[in-house]
Amino acid sequence: MTHVSKRYARQARFHGIGAEGQERLMEKRVLVVGLGALGAAVSDQLVRAGVSLVLVDRDYVEVTNLQRQTLYVEQDALSETPKAIAALERLRAINSDIELDAQIVDVSWDWLRALPHVDLVLDATDNVETRLLLNDFALDRGIPFLFASCVGAYGMNYTVMPGEAPCLRCLMRHLPLAGQTCATAGVVAPIVQHVASRQVVEALKFLTGRPEKMERRLLIEDMWENQSQRLDVARLIDVSCPSCQTHDYPSLVSNRQQTSLLCGRDVVQVRRSIEGLAPIANLLERADIAVKRTPFTLEWRWRNHRMLLFKDGRVLVHGVNDAHVAVAMVDECLGT
Ligand SMILES: [Zn+2]
Repeated sequence: MTHVSKRYARQARFHGIGAEGQERLMEKRVLVVGLGALGAAVSDQLVRAGVSLVLVDRDYVEVTNLQRQTLYVEQDALSETPKAIAALERLRAINSDIELDAQIVDVSWDWLRALPHVDLVLDATDNVETRLLLNDFALDRGIPFLFASCVGAYGMNYTVMPGEAPCLRCLMRHLPLAGQTCATAGVVAPIVQHVASRQVVEALKFLTGRPEKMERRLLIEDMWENQSQRLDVARLIDVSCPSCQTHDYPSLVSNRQQTSLLCGRDVVQVRRSIEGLAPIANLLERADIAVKRTPFTLEWRWRNHRMLLFKDGRVLVHGVNDAHVAVAMVDECLGT
């Protein structure tokens, strides 16, 4: 028995996968967008299963993440390591046989359109805008999009299959997605693991060539109230849906939002076009601003607010929730 086959022996023994299914899994590549609680959970399972991943996240590890984001440890929070970097290190230690690509970016259409082939997209994000972008991207590429969401002890799963309807945009009007967040309503780890496991099992069915086994219903689970539902959503197709019906894909547009409020935190993200971190560090230091450098970020304080700049030009302005205030502060530091 080879090293690889021994590693996956129990999974290949399972009748639904078998040796042939395992071989297929090892040829696949999955895009995981977001490396918070869901992203950490699905990545851990998929990497152990032998699936290569493209990982993407825009944020860094904080101590409040450790309760449920299972790839990270205290040192990651202390050093505020970007989640993509911390996750990559941990996942490589788990399985060195697969390909892992991790990027610190805020996913956009410009980034997605340049992405090489992936076999499916896993939603581990925390906002509607990005989910609709992924919905449109997956439909356009003809690959499945596995939506998931959880808050409190409540979670949802739905798989958007290419060529089938409804898509997530059709369902948006009916799903309670824009209300509570993990920051306002909290979240317990078990619902994260539950929802993530549902995503992964659907991914395994598809990647091993068993799409007929996939769940087509909307799954809803409230683990605290002991309630679960499986809803047939076929009647919720929006016949004028610009994504799955007319294929206009309204989210696949280049002009990215310049600012956005990060989910549930007093943090505003402002975009700037920069040519690397070093010139910015020099600029700030010439203005007598103390700069903390890491390989991935620059950090400084301005008007008593913490500012964190990533290589892709995003500045996180902490302690504000007004986009205009945040943009003005970035202008003061970096120029307009
Ligand atoms: Zn649709």
